[in-house]
Amino acid sequence: MRTAICPGSFDPITLGHLNIIRRCTKIFDRVVVCIMVNSTKTSPMFSVEERVDMVKRVVSRFPNVTVDFSDGLLAEYARQFEGAVVVKGLRAASDFEYEFQMDLINKNINPQLETMFLTASGKYTFLSSSVVREMARYGADLTGLVPEEIKSEIEIKAKQWRRNNG
Ligand code: ADP
Repeated sequence: MRTAICPGSFDPITLGHLNIIRRCTKIFDRVVVCIMVNSTKTSPMFSVEERVDMVKRVVSRFPNVTVDFSDGLLAEYARQFEGAVVVKGLRAASDFEYEFQMDLINKNINPQLETMFLTASGKYTFLSSSVVREMARYGADLTGLVPEEIKSEIEIKAKQWRRNNG
């Protein structure tokens, strides 16, 4: 059984993430979306529990996708899935530089672990979770950026943020 691991912060999940996950479901037998608790991203908009819950709701349409989280290293996390491949989306040259470095680091820890890249769909090359957070905080319409199922949840969170920071 071929497993893809799609790691990321998913703070929150966007249509760009979902596009990569959906494409993975067609290539792999099983897809594990893993929410990584990233120590460099210190003030997330959503807690890990909220992110897991949102991703679960969004991917429930795919029978071969499961959702998990990890506060450890991806290269260690991946060991539990035999022959698993990490799949990442590439939006721009800047993503490539970072991902190339990450792959070298991961291979140092777990030499068996391969990473594959899917190029971002043209309409999502500009889209990132940070763009969504920024737009939400200023009350912009998130249609076409995030899955419909989680849109109102993001808007509510952004309203709370405006109240606390405004
Ligand atoms: P972000 O960079 O949006 O904060 P993450 O850290 O959650 O996202 O990224 C997880 C993975 O999803 C990375 O491999 C990233 O390149 C990919 N990704 C994020 N946004 C997109 C997009 N719009 N299109 C394709 N891949 C994406």
